[in-house]
Amino acid sequence: MAARKTEDSPNTDTPAMRQYKRFKEEHPGCVLFFRMGDFYEMFFEDAELAHRVLGIAISERTSGIPMSGVPHHSVENYLRRMIQAGHRVAVCEQVEDAAEAKGVVKRDVTRVVTPGTLTDAALLEDGDRAVLCAVCFLEAGGTVQGEGLAALEGLGRVALAWAELSTGALTVAELPAVAAADELARLGAAEVLYCATADGEVPPRVAALMTAAGGAGGALTGRPGWQFRQNEAVDVLKKQFGVMDLKGFGFEDDDAALAAAGAVVAYLLETQRSESGRLAHLRPPQRFDRGAHLVIDPTSLASLEVEAPLRGTHGRGDAADTLVSVLARGGGRGGGRGGGICTAVGRRRLRDWLCYPLSDRGAVQARQRVVRAMVDDERFRRELGGVLSAVQDIPRMIARLACGRASPRDVVGLGRSAAAAADLATVLAERPSLTGHRERLDAVAGPLAELADCIAEACVDEPPPHLREGGLFRDGHDARLDEQRTLQKDSDTWLAGYQAELIERSGIASLKVGYNKVFGYYIEVSAANRGRVSDDWAWTRKQTLKNAERFITPELKDYEGKVLSAKDRGVAREQELFDGLCGDASDRMDQLHAFSELVAELDVLRCFAERAVRWRYVEPAMVDEPVLDITAGRHPVLDELLGDRFVPNDLSLFCADAGAQPPPETVRSLSLITGPNMAGKSTFIRQAALLTLMAHTGSFIPAEAATVGMCDRIFTRVGAHDELHAGRSTFMVEMTETANICHHATARSLVILDEIGRGTSTLDGLSLAWAITEHLHRVGCRALFATHYHELTQLATAPGGAPDDAAGVALAGVRNLHVLVREWDDRIVFLHRIEPGAADRSYGVQVARLAGLPEAVVSRAKAVLESLAVSQAGVGVGVEAAGGASPPQAAGAKPGAAKPQMSLFTEYVSHPVVERLRGVELDALTPMAAFDLLRELADEVKG
Ligand code: ADP
Repeated sequence: MAARKTEDSPNTDTPAMRQYKRFKEEHPGCVLFFRMGDFYEMFFEDAELAHRVLGIAISERTSGIPMSGVPHHSVENYLRRMIQAGHRVAVCEQVEDAAEAKGVVKRDVTRVVTPGTLTDAALLEDGDRAVLCAVCFLEAGGTVQGEGLAALEGLGRVALAWAELSTGALTVAELPAVAAADELARLGAAEVLYCATADGEVPPRVAALMTAAGGAGGALTGRPGWQFRQNEAVDVLKKQFGVMDLKGFGFEDDDAALAAAGAVVAYLLETQRSESGRLAHLRPPQRFDRGAHLVIDPTSLASLEVEAPLRGTHGRGDAADTLVSVLARGGGRGGGRGGGICTAVGRRRLRDWLCYPLSDRGAVQARQRVVRAMVDDERFRRELGGVLSAVQDIPRMIARLACGRASPRDVVGLGRSAAAAADLATVLAERPSLTGHRERLDAVAGPLAELADCIAEACVDEPPPHLREGGLFRDGHDARLDEQRTLQKDSDTWLAGYQAELIERSGIASLKVGYNKVFGYYIEVSAANRGRVSDDWAWTRKQTLKNAERFITPELKDYEGKVLSAKDRGVAREQELFDGLCGDASDRMDQLHAFSELVAELDVLRCFAERAVRWRYVEPAMVDEPVLDITAGRHPVLDELLGDRFVPNDLSLFCADAGAQPPPETVRSLSLITGPNMAGKSTFIRQAALLTLMAHTGSFIPAEAATVGMCDRIFTRVGAHDELHAGRSTFMVEMTETANICHHATARSLVILDEIGRGTSTLDGLSLAWAITEHLHRVGCRALFATHYHELTQLATAPGGAPDDAAGVALAGVRNLHVLVREWDDRIVFLHRIEPGAADRSYGVQVARLAGLPEAVVSRAKAVLESLAVSQAGVGVGVEAAGGASPPQAAGAKPGAAKPQMSLFTEYVSHPVVERLRGVELDALTPMAAFDLLRELADEVKG
């Protein structure tokens, strides 16, 4: 956000306004919430922005100064809305008591709230993450050319760093720009820092990177260039982690991956106002190992609806269903019931595992072993669920502790969570498949038990939300605190006695001794009894109300001093004790963190197991060979939604090993799926990608049996999200995404393509689809391609394996599949069953009828279709395009398939030269005449 200017009129400004302007200047790019009494006020452009974003009224108390305000008691709500709208807010508080202030009240900015630096429970939901990311291009120059990912080719390498302040994780990476876009997309950062140009603009390279990442990252925040310099970054990191060099963390000083990390840490320190210059809970940087994970690019992540649903997802009932949300339910629907994820850390971990599946077979199998053990042991799952539910959001609580914002409830929460470690140890005992987990737990159990005991012994069971009034520590825990409390209690007794005494002395039965914050303790006598107060008593009149008169006495003043100081001293003592407990907890940060990691993992694995049991999932055999063999596979989301109505399907893909030449019948690397709209093509191919992805996380999958070969990447390109890319045509989006696939797919990838080549002329579209299919076949990846271009089915070999290559174009390993439909009374019934062979026709007219097209239009379309089909029956569809292929319906079509698909090539008219060539009798030509003919034809073509 560019710096906002406030109008400058120093001479006429009030002192408060001068203060406001100073803070505003010190926090460029921030909306300033300026505390004035019970409100946070905003002025000038900020007032207008607040009016737009928060929908609050705007006024002009001083002429020419727009102003709007929010009440202080509900400020968190307004902060959240500001942040959600992508703004940053500097919160400026009154830091002295207004009553005691001489002149203007002292104020200071106590926190800067930005989308990427949230830790407050009120601003960040449990399962949500607030990721702060920084990007910087490592090489000078490099111009942006082209669209999407292609625009990033030639832009060199990018340093990426990301941190979650709310959990303390810091990760760095150095990647080619294209890969950086992939990672940005799956990070889903709430805020991205970049090196701003001198004029405050977003540099074109950064803009291109963000666009290619699918607009990933909420707010973009420009930062000064020096913060991205290597030596600055290294200095900031050394200071933050209190080390002389970073070798201990595995980094040399000149490691380019660190460039962005410095900017992240500097920003965190700045927004958190850390006076120590450090953030205690931030963990040393970890290098991101891209190779350890299956790579999923932004498009694939979106089209598989891993985290967020696509719009208009095939009319599914529950639009909010995503892979993450469905799996998080475990055995049932609805939150933690039925063995779903039961901890906040688990919920975030599930998301991470699904967005970062593993690429190492051994690592996947290690998770599978645990899931298997849990599947076989119902009691274990139940007990584990019980223990895990007691663990609260440890990383968040630690983060608030480190930022000095921990509440009594955080500390008690940490204590209770730490206490769960001992229970977990009991549950894990004698479970051989979890020996590794048990050992990790044993390594931290001692210090955690100590902490748990210490907090449980000190704190009450129902801690207050804040320490202002005290009340966190148990009686008997601390002698000094007890002393103050006794004083307070004794004086309560004194007060009651004093009131009784006064009533007796004065004879005024309704006399009361009361307290308010402004006047302190007072004696209140109703107006009716006012005359009965004698001057002899030496009461001092303090306040006259309409119905009553208030007095004080020297005894009462004395009492007040004692009570208030006892109370103050008590609260101060509690604060001391609280700080001590926070210190104890901070000392065990590492152990707490390790425990929380363990909890997150076990929660997800248990949820996988619950799901496997309840929804009949099977453990996929993970192999290194490039295969994908699924018997009776189901789509994880639709399976739950449709239950028995979901039709399971088989799939078998098998690629040749690199260099080997296996007989064609064993190779099925690429399948073309044809069938009418709404038949289930998309579902089938997405299901293949989803099951592959799930298998790589260690989860079991919805199928009867499965063998999944390890993949390096999953690519999916489906057509539903085109409009998201405003400003680029559907066709352009499709082609840039397909270009990415063609460039990066390898023999170990899985590629899912849905309807490539729409949005241009059918002839162009078919030609492109054809060429792309051939390209993917050459790459030798596992591929599924749903298409309407029935002409493509000629590329396939027959189901038996022998090349059914009447057209001379078939490719070994390419197979046809189609979705079965039944035609009945000129209507179609979808069977959703995948069968070998190509579909005979599109049934577009029948599907349109199902969609509610007027009957007259449907019948007219049918008539047109029939006449077209008759007029061009027999026209050689693939002939010219594919160099002599046979008619379209020849390959793969079922014998007796009645009407041919309408040709896509009716627009094609043979070139006259071709016609002449057809007529030539070569045997009758002399070499000279042949040469003359050739020259003539060449001239004609050129002419
Ligand atoms: P297509 O890609 O062929 O147009 P979709 O895959 O979008 O078709 O499927 C359309 C609808 O059909 C889905 O939303 C779903 O309701 C239903 N469907 C798809 N596959 C199956 C299946 N295997 N069993 C039951 N219903 C299915």
